[in-house]
Amino acid sequence: MTMVIRLLYLSLLANFFLLRPTTCFVSPVTSCTAATTSGSSPLLPSQRWQITNMSSSSSSSQWNESPTSTSEEQTLAKSLSIWPLDTYNVNLLNEVRHKQYTNPNPPLPIYDLVVIGAGAGGLVSSRQAARRGAKSCMISAELAGGDCLNAGCVPSKALLRCAKLVREAKKIVVQDNEYGISVTNSGKTSDDDANQMNVSVDFPKIMERMRKLRAHIAPVDGHARGDSLGTQTFQGRGVFTSPSTIEVVEHGQQLGAESNPILHFRKAVIATGGRPFVPDNIPGLKEAPYTTNLSLFNLQQLPKRMVVLGAGVVALEMAQAFASFGSEVTVLQRSRLLSRGDEEAAEAIKQTLEKEGVKFLSGVSVNEVTTIKEATNNDDLPLMSVSLSCAEHTEPISLDCECLLLALGRTANVDSLGLESAGVDFHPSKGILVNDFSQSVSNPDVYAVGDCVSDVFRLTHMSGEMAKVVVQNALFKGQWRLSSLVVPAVMYTDPEYATVGRIHVDENDNVVSPIENNEEVDVYKAELQHNDRAILDSSDKTSFVKILCKKGTGTIVGCTIVSSRAGEMINEVSLAMKHDISLEGVGRNIHSYPTLGEAVMGCGIQFINSRWETMN
Ligand SMILES: Cc1cc2nc3c(=O)[nH]c(=O)nc-3n(C[C@H](O)[C@H](O)[C@H](O)COP(=O)(O)OP(=O)(O)OC[C@H]3O[C@@H](n4cnc5c(N)ncnc54)[C@H](O)[C@@H]3O)c2cc1C
Repeated sequence: MTMVIRLLYLSLLANFFLLRPTTCFVSPVTSCTAATTSGSSPLLPSQRWQITNMSSSSSSSQWNESPTSTSEEQTLAKSLSIWPLDTYNVNLLNEVRHKQYTNPNPPLPIYDLVVIGAGAGGLVSSRQAARRGAKSCMISAELAGGDCLNAGCVPSKALLRCAKLVREAKKIVVQDNEYGISVTNSGKTSDDDANQMNVSVDFPKIMERMRKLRAHIAPVDGHARGDSLGTQTFQGRGVFTSPSTIEVVEHGQQLGAESNPILHFRKAVIATGGRPFVPDNIPGLKEAPYTTNLSLFNLQQLPKRMVVLGAGVVALEMAQAFASFGSEVTVLQRSRLLSRGDEEAAEAIKQTLEKEGVKFLSGVSVNEVTTIKEATNNDDLPLMSVSLSCAEHTEPISLDCECLLLALGRTANVDSLGLESAGVDFHPSKGILVNDFSQSVSNPDVYAVGDCVSDVFRLTHMSGEMAKVVVQNALFKGQWRLSSLVVPAVMYTDPEYATVGRIHVDENDNVVSPIENNEEVDVYKAELQHNDRAILDSSDKTSFVKILCKKGTGTIVGCTIVSSRAGEMINEVSLAMKHDISLEGVGRNIHSYPTLGEAVMGCGIQFINSRWETMN
């Protein structure tokens, strides 16, 4: 009897962990891992219906490394912007884009949820739906994991780690540095040897490390993981053919081909993300071998000169990284850095980057891009000349560079999706128009999440959070609102720049813009130069925390932090905003000493002090 109760208890426990609603959204590449199912685990609700379909769902063959890979494989890998075809990229592709793949055949007669797109938004919505018992599937046109895994957050942060190490190393090879540390070849300290030390950068190795770590993370976004969670994956391009059907245009096929699967849905989610914006009014640009985030992480040689067009988050993160590696970097900005962000923060970050050798030109208008030399092979770099007018020079100037990085923002992927057939309204560059429930304003059975949506923050955790909202609203009659989300955003330069804000809706509950805060506010500011931890770390001389409250109250409406670890510090303010904790509450929350987070508390203490009773 006791044994029976024990088994019952263990089975309940196992079910609790397996069936708990996923919180896997911050990064589908990390937090999903906690709920991995094993072969002998009890079935997920979705697997009860799906098990018969699974056997026919996927068959694949493995990618081959160069030089054994075929020319077709190499062409395909390049067209997917994954290069070189080394062991790490082969491992990545084997997870997120099977070379040959048999789509589930036949598809289910009808799906509760069909998701188009396999980035953060698509992965979380299809998997969470499956884990909650829905018949769901996801259509992946290119690489599962989307921008974040393959050409965004993951590779960029891997490079930033190495860049920071280079800067730290440079600090200790300087003679008489303040840390009292020097490095010699023998491992012993000696001033004479230290004088001769240099920090050298092995760029191919840095890129190899990035590829290795990206491949390490990839399985969580891979097709096999989706299978194990009970959602089906289709490889191909999803196109609406009516308000309730989607055709999967299989690779190498045309729309309408007889063999293309047709998926019938009760609800659909568009999660097609975005692509880099490329202006069409700069002569010579379209023909030039420019770089975007899609090709940047395939570089095999460090460019001697890099010109960055744009001065937003991607531009500044990569400008700092490549300058640290030794490239001569020039950032071309039309107005100012982080044009919609805090001016003081932008200035502090600009000063830091300038000290590290990044050059900034402002008021720039690019007149022409000339290709001087194309790259002769994949490992080679091209040469271009960028002719421009700017505020700093009366005459037009030209900048030669081996890498011209376009980082001018994103265009939503809404083309060729058959949105007209589905009756889904959209803006051609901003994206799908949704209401406060993340639902299409024109077709109530269609929802949209992530970078393909108009007027939302374009961030991985935003895509994931929207996916949770959609699963609840579409499948469980939920009323979760985007306007209730408090969304932190971080630029991972050093120092980091973090902000937090809300989604805004109009009087008809339609999403209108990310942060338009015209309310009158009180500003509380704490400078990190007075923070003991920052002093002991010798960092953060220009850093600060700035918390904005509704005028005359402690209600927090926004925050800007410039500091190392700002990305960690901002989470406290997001929590306070989400749960209506006032600035007084933040000030009364005890913070460990010495921590950078004390600066957040410092703003709260200012608020408390401004209302102190005093003795006359
Ligand atoms: C360099 C860089 C660094 C970044 N760093 C960060 C960071 O540190 N933190 C952060 O939060 N955000 C970061 N971002 C932003 C983040 O990458 C995106 O917000 C996130 O990837 C958006 O996820 P998504 O699912 O909406 O779209 P995506 O990741 O773009 O995924 C969309 C998917 O849909 C597929 N697709 C498109 N059309 C179709 C179709 N018709 N049929 C089937 N599939 C289709 C695409 O192939 C793609 O796989 C960064 C972005 C860049 C460019």
